[in-house]
Amino acid sequence: MEFGFLPNTVALAVVAVLGYLFGRSALRAPTADPNQMRRELKRARLVVNELERIAQEVRRSIASHHSSVLHFKDRLSELGATPEQAATRDICREAEHLLRPTVRLATQMASAYDELRQQSTLLMSFTEVRTDPLTGLSNRRALNESISTFMAIQKRYRTPFTIGIVDIDHFKAVNDEFGHPHGDAVLKDVADSLERCVRETDIVARFGGEEFVVVMPETDLEGAAVLDRRIRRSVEAETDVTISCGMSQVLHSDDEHTLVARADKALYAAKADGRNCIFQHTGEDVQRLASTQLVAACEAEDENAELVSA
Ligand code: GH3
Ligand code: MG
Ligand code: MG
Repeated sequence: MEFGFLPNTVALAVVAVLGYLFGRSALRAPTADPNQMRRELKRARLVVNELERIAQEVRRSIASHHSSVLHFKDRLSELGATPEQAATRDICREAEHLLRPTVRLATQMASAYDELRQQSTLLMSFTEVRTDPLTGLSNRRALNESISTFMAIQKRYRTPFTIGIVDIDHFKAVNDEFGHPHGDAVLKDVADSLERCVRETDIVARFGGEEFVVVMPETDLEGAAVLDRRIRRSVEAETDVTISCGMSQVLHSDDEHTLVARADKALYAAKADGRNCIFQHTGEDVQRLASTQLVAACEAEDENAELVSA
């Protein structure tokens, strides 16, 4: 009879589940940040695979135990009924009795792994319907949910937030000249560049086609001017295309549509003004970012970074 599997699988399970829980404990309180959520789910995916493997191993071991017991019983019945053999049979029965809770525990463990796996799978499908398959960014559905959450926070606590709609310049020409697969690769490059350049608390989503949205929590239009350095110049340096961007800051009277519509107006103005630039909708009118705004926003960010690192 083979029971050596148990400590081994228990150890594996403990490592897997602890790894997952440790990662979770490092997270902040529940957040609307889908980037954070995606990182957690990536870890969950690894744990699910590990649980699947462990559950299979436990089941295989239980099956092999049962067949060993059956085989052992067959061998016993082949023996005659002498007093020594009767004693051996008693010992074997006793041994089986002692081992029964172990087998029960292993069965329960396998069911627990199944349950955990089902829950993690649910979590993963929750993420999958909110992720853009090409770029791995949040999709429009996830973006809408995030914006709604930030709006609710804004209405209650008056915390500002700003969004930027980013659109690749002359992207149709990229497809026309180099083909759709190359266009897809450029979209991925831009997505990577955007995600790398924004703050960890910012959200980047694919809005559709060659448009992306950056959500900057706790940031007003003045602070958001830093996007010019953070994303416009980074995309220009890191990819083969340039981007234009329109920004708007949430107003107390806003709903999701009015906020996005203002940013879209600003984007339209950026395109009309020659592209590769950022425009802001102030709530009253649309303005190109002034160089003084850019300098001020960058200085404020640098000072802030020094304070944080000091
Ligand atoms: P502008 O500077 O005014 O934004 O010009 P544009 O060419 O970028 O804008 P337009 O709206 O005319 O074209 C957008 C192009 O984006 C057309 C469409 O084929 C392409 N596109 C949208 N989604 C995808 C995609 O998933 N993959 C690829 N390769 N191309 C896409
Ligand atoms: Mg477009
Ligand atoms: Mg475009």
